[in-house]
Amino acid sequence: MRRLDRNGVELRRRFSNRRVFLFVDFDGTLAPLVSQPHQARAGGPVMRAIATLAALPRARVAVMSGRPLSFIRARFRAPGLYYGGNHGLEMRGPGVVFRHEVAAALRPTIRALSVQAKKTFSGFAGVLIENKGLSMSIHYRRTPLSLRRRLHRALAVFRLRTESLPVRWRRGKKVWEVLPRVNWDKGRALKELLRRTGPAVPVAVGDDITDEDMFRAVGPQGVGVRVGKSGSSRANYYISRQGDVAKFLSQLVEVLQ
Ligand SMILES: [Mg+2]
Repeated sequence: MRRLDRNGVELRRRFSNRRVFLFVDFDGTLAPLVSQPHQARAGGPVMRAIATLAALPRARVAVMSGRPLSFIRARFRAPGLYYGGNHGLEMRGPGVVFRHEVAAALRPTIRALSVQAKKTFSGFAGVLIENKGLSMSIHYRRTPLSLRRRLHRALAVFRLRTESLPVRWRRGKKVWEVLPRVNWDKGRALKELLRRTGPAVPVAVGDDITDEDMFRAVGPQGVGVRVGKSGSSRANYYISRQGDVAKFLSQLVEVLQ
């Protein structure tokens, strides 16, 4: 994993005369992580760069998030932009309307689990249960450190009770995600969007565990960029922190326009 150079020489070399499809995560990548998930917002420079990139003839852009599709779409609304919600289980964009049907059929299971989780964790300060339709999040960023051990034990018990259900658990930054047990992730979603929109060099940018599926999916021709250096990541490059993402995006605008 190498630090992305500041003048964009490597990107220029990789992308010369080629179409590029940028797949970019939202929380912790386009938007800073915040303690109240509904308050997450991308800054002005990031918003402008995303809109500019989406309008370039050589570039396509998809915002790929664990959030519901409706949340992500409401945050951007840039013409030409693609959106992947619920880790790519639902996607929209020019010429693309996608919903994973097996996952969609499991909505009642997710709903019932959300109700149970709300009851189970109501005694834990700062725990937020979010029913996202096709998946559920258990956020605990705001739970005091002194409660975390007890919380993790309660989570383990709750998880055990879901073992007979068609769901799977994935961990993110201060969040557990409960997803329908289908063979789908951000990486498969990335490939599906590429397949539907034509050849392009895929560039995946993200900060969390589920983004590793995208880093794998870009293949040897593509580029993975992680926000934050990490020895175990599959990304080729890293950006030091979320605050530097705007700079990276404007570099991409320069290279691709
Ligand atoms: Mg993220």
